[in-house]
Amino acid sequence: MNTIEKKTRTLLIRVAQGKKQTIFSRLITYKELWENISEEKWGRGRKDRIVDIITKISAFDIDNGLPPLNELVVVKKTGLPGEEWSSIKSYIKKRSGKTSPYRSHIEAQQACWEYWSSEVNVTNTEGKVEEGVAQDKTVVFRKRNQTLVAERKKRDKNTCQACGYKMRVHGKYIIDVHHKYPLSASEGARVTSVKDLVCLCPNCHRIAHTKKFPLSPKEISRVIERGS
Ligand SMILES: [Zn+2]
Repeated sequence: MNTIEKKTRTLLIRVAQGKKQTIFSRLITYKELWENISEEKWGRGRKDRIVDIITKISAFDIDNGLPPLNELVVVKKTGLPGEEWSSIKSYIKKRSGKTSPYRSHIEAQQACWEYWSSEVNVTNTEGKVEEGVAQDKTVVFRKRNQTLVAERKKRDKNTCQACGYKMRVHGKYIIDVHHKYPLSASEGARVTSVKDLVCLCPNCHRIAHTKKFPLSPKEISRVIERGS
């Protein structure tokens, strides 16, 4: 790796660790990245140069069995990488000779957060738990994802996927729709697929947010069984 690639990789690791202040939590936009690695102004052709740098870094990491950091560089509009998953994957394969083991942008991003962050398993404080639950319910989040939320409730049959709780009061189900991946505090809306959501009862939803990287329904079940 050359100097700029090394510098960019160090920056992306800090992003994965949540140590860098960015628009999206644990992600960085192309423009933000550019402004951190170059003196030149943002403009035409810069994105292509970034893509060149970050795919080289990921080819290096995949070759060493590490998750691909290029996945953390995203378009401001969508919160996702600007390239098709399949084209990045084939590019990395061509370059490193190895196939990336991840099936989607989201899966690869999660792998980066988990691998690079020593903080993901840190316990949230009481206030942070409330914040996490509230974030899944923000107006922006609900408005932008109304259809996905409704579809998730339908698929999960309004039932908590951790403990099986199902309750209807005055014709309304008591169920939350939880976002599996950490949302940015400012945006609160980075949902792309119904698979990113899961139905949880209010209790289990609180349990999910007791960790910085939310617990999965399976992990919640285990917590309930253990009783701690
Ligand atoms: Zn539950």
